[in-house]
Amino acid sequence: MIRAIKGTRDILPPASAVWNHVERVARRVMESYAYQEIRTPIFEETDLFARGVGEDTDIVSKEMYSWEDRDGTRLTLRPENTAGVIRSYIEHRLDQRPGLQKLYYMGPMFRRERPQKGRYRQFSQIGAEVIGSESPAVDAELIEMVMEVLSQAGLEGARLILNSVGCKECRPKFLAALREQLKDVAAGMCNDCQRRAGTNPLRVLDCKAPEDQPAIEKLPSILDYLCETCRTHFASVRSHLDERGIGYEVRPRLVRGLDYYTRTTFEVVHGALGAQNSVLGGGRYDGLAEALGSKVPAPGIGFSIGEDRLVMTVEETHPGLMKGSIDLFIAPMGEAALRHSTLLARELRRGGAVVELAFEGKLKRVLETANKTGARYTLIVGDNEMESGAYALKNMATGEQETVTREQLAERFYGKH
Ligand SMILES: [Zn+2]
Ligand SMILES: [Zn+2]
Repeated sequence: MIRAIKGTRDILPPASAVWNHVERVARRVMESYAYQEIRTPIFEETDLFARGVGEDTDIVSKEMYSWEDRDGTRLTLRPENTAGVIRSYIEHRLDQRPGLQKLYYMGPMFRRERPQKGRYRQFSQIGAEVIGSESPAVDAELIEMVMEVLSQAGLEGARLILNSVGCKECRPKFLAALREQLKDVAAGMCNDCQRRAGTNPLRVLDCKAPEDQPAIEKLPSILDYLCETCRTHFASVRSHLDERGIGYEVRPRLVRGLDYYTRTTFEVVHGALGAQNSVLGGGRYDGLAEALGSKVPAPGIGFSIGEDRLVMTVEETHPGLMKGSIDLFIAPMGEAALRHSTLLARELRRGGAVVELAFEGKLKRVLETANKTGARYTLIVGDNEMESGAYALKNMATGEQETVTREQLAERFYGKH
């Protein structure tokens, strides 16, 4: 028997209904903020991710699915989508279009991680990028939008963590201070930290090893090193959030390890998932477009939601979303009734109802099946019903039965969705 590959999975009904719910909400909310969907390929040149995500990240150094194409081009299944969106922005000169470019995406990403609860090698992200402005109001609007997506999707108790990582003027001073202090303490830290202390000291700050946390707590805080422009920018983002009544916690250890990440950085955590509790991460990347070859500056900010984890949480707290969605299950008795029922079903479906029809089987079995599918109503169609034009409609929740005409049926089920 052939099985799905380790780290991948099938999303079956009724769980797929929760995915659709989350995606529907995300589209509706993001489109109300004037974002539009962008769809980029799931594979790109390897070099795009090496430059866009960073050579020294775990993602690029050990988690990418890469291969050499027949002509020798190095290709990679996308491990994230910001690099692809910015590549597309540059390639299609989206900077020439009017206004801010507000783009959202959703779809599969690929990383060769060790499979564990809530983590998959093929996983889904819902994300957005807004390109073309450095304004702190843009940051606040994006953050407000993502909080709306989460709460409208049904995630309760989400907490926003916020920080600023400075800019190319002020971050080097912070890095120097960090390097200086790491000289003394790195030897006592985990192997990754010892290596990063030399290569990319910012990444020491997001080490998750419990034994390293006391040392990390004592390292310098980037907030003490922000230049005047970055300090003002951060204060402005915060005041915009305050005015909108969006709560947050400032956590100076929340950093992103790459040079082109600037200023605002954020994460949303959720209590229900234990240690794996980050639902999304995001931040400003004012130098990314230039790093990917753009001739014009394209400051931007974006986020990506780990959809698998979001769905898992929503599923636990809203089991009702997984109920079957059949409005009406029609049980025809005999061949003539089946033909009659197919036309009736088509009429109701055109009106927007979800209708299922039994094609064969004894009435008793058909009604049992209807019950198991969670259909809200059943309708029995036999010779008498066809002759009189009056049908027996049964409410499956209450067991009540009533006699209805075709017109009454249409009235009852039209415009349900
Ligand atoms: Zn700065
Ligand atoms: Zn460490």
